[in-house]
Formats: sequence, C-alpha cells, structure tokens
Amino acid sequence: MARIIAIANQKGGVGKTTTCVNLAASLAAAKKRVLLVDLDPQGNATMGSGVDKHEIGYSVYDLLVHGTPVLNVMVGAPEGDFSVIPANGDLTAAEVELVGVDGRERRLQDALAEVEGLFDYILIDCPPSLNLLTLNALVAAQGVIIAMQCEYYALEGLSALLDTISKVAGAVNPGLGVEGILRTMYDPRNSLTNDVSSQLHQHFAGKVYRTVIPRNVRLAEAPSHGLPVMYYDRYSRGSKAYMALAGEIMRRDEGAPSSVSADGIVT
Ligand code: ADP
Ligand code: MG
Repeated sequence: MARIIAIANQKGGVGKTTTCVNLAASLAAAKKRVLLVDLDPQGNATMGSGVDKHEIGYSVYDLLVHGTPVLNVMVGAPEGDFSVIPANGDLTAAEVELVGVDGRERRLQDALAEVEGLFDYILIDCPPSLNLLTLNALVAAQGVIIAMQCEYYALEGLSALLDTISKVAGAVNPGLGVEGILRTMYDPRNSLTNDVSSQLHQHFAGKVYRTVIPRNVRLAEAPSHGLPVMYYDRYSRGSKAYMALAGEIMRRDEGAPSSVSADGIVT
C-alpha cells in the first residue's frame, strides 16, 4: 500500500512544488513506485515533471469534479520513472463546482483508493492556501511534509496549518500527522536561518529532516526545461540534496536511523 504524503504550506514560494517534483524523481530513482498528484491550478508540478499542462486529455479537475477514473487521468513523466496526475487552470473552478456535493472533501481519497496498491509513494503538491483542494489532500494523506524557508516570517501561519492538520485528524483522518519539516532554500551563512532552524528543532523535535535543501540555481532552472533537477544537472547540490532527502524518508519509513552524509547537505 502506498504511503500518501501531502506537501503543504499555505505560503507560496517556499519550495513545495520543487520538493514534490524532485522528491518524486529521487524516490523513483531509488526504485520506488511513485505517483505525483498536482493539486495546484498553476500546474507547476505538472510542467516541472515534463508534462505539458495544455496538452493533457484529462486532469485532476476531471477526477475531482466529474469522477473520471484515475487510470484515465494518470500519465507518465517523460523523464524519470514516475506517474503524474496533472493539473491546469481548469482546477480553479473545482472549488465552486464542488459546493453542495456530498463528501466533497473526500473526492481525492476515493480516487486514490483505486491505485494505492500500485505505488510505494503518492506525493501530493498542495496549492498555497488552506482551501478545499488542500483539504482533499489532507483527508487523503497519512502524513504532511511542511516545506519551510528559514526566514523571519517562516513560523507565521504555521499554527494555522498545524491547526488544520489536527482538525482533519480529529474529524475524518485519525492517522494524519506531520511527516516532517523540510528546510528549503537553506543558507547557513544567514544567522536568521540558524535562529529559525533552532526554533523548529525546539517545536518539532524529531520531525525536522536532517537533510536541508540549499539555495541552488539549478533547482530554479530545471523546471523551465521540464526536468527534475537530477536529469538536468545530476551533480548539482540541489540534486544531491533531494536524493539525500529521499534516502532519509525511506530510512525513516523502514525504521532505520538516518546517517550523515559527508558533503554538508545534512545537518
Ligand atoms: P511553492 O510551490 O511553495 O510555491 P516553488 O517550489 O514553486 O514553491 O518555489 C518557488 C520558486 O523558488 C520557484 O521559482 C523555484 O524554482 C525556486 N526554488 C525553490 N526551491 C529552491 C532552491 N532550493 N534554490 C533555489 N531556488 C528554489
Ligand atoms: Mg507550488
């Protein structure tokens, strides 16, 4: 059965999509069977996986609103051995169209139930808000990876997200919890980074990934080529960091202690 992980933070620009695409590719490279679900109408995870959001037959919108079978919506990422449920601007209408529909927060969960047995990991890229789409992700998921940039306002808004997670857990999805806190665009030379980092360790002992994602221009360039960074510049720091993160996540799932790598991307 797949482990279903939502990558969330209602803040935009913190590295959710970058994490979703590159973690999917890295887990797939480690021979895990991976499905990426794009739940953001911007379709950035779709494009970043190399799937043209303008050329797709069906999208996650059809799956949520029209009940199109998940196998008809799923496509393969052209580079990287993972599957994608793509999104595009159509998804903007989903929230309005689902008003009044019974069980509208369970649409994604119902759809994924059909393919859970086919994957080891299902990663859901959430939009930058706590809306019905994010709610669908939290209802479907077992864990949430919170992507965080270690900057001054990073912790602001975190309590709203944690509150939403515990409400969803209390109401409909008792297994849901924080899978891990991921520090993105990490710059150890910035003292604020270290302050925020130590606050995160205080609040989320044991949940903060040892792997940090450095600020790396290759990570920002790769999506414009429709490639996960490991197919764009395999030896970049960004690529190595996401491979290390995949390793850390797999070891956590297998219950083994994490190890420290030599190249400084693991703190
Ligand atoms: P979100 O999905 O949370 O809105 P994105 O993953 O789209 O965030 O990242 C926002 C922007 O920052 C994008 O232009 C992306 O390419 C860039 N970016 C993300 N992570 C990094 C990183 N580690 N180093 C450099 N640029 C990054
Ligand atoms: Mg995004």
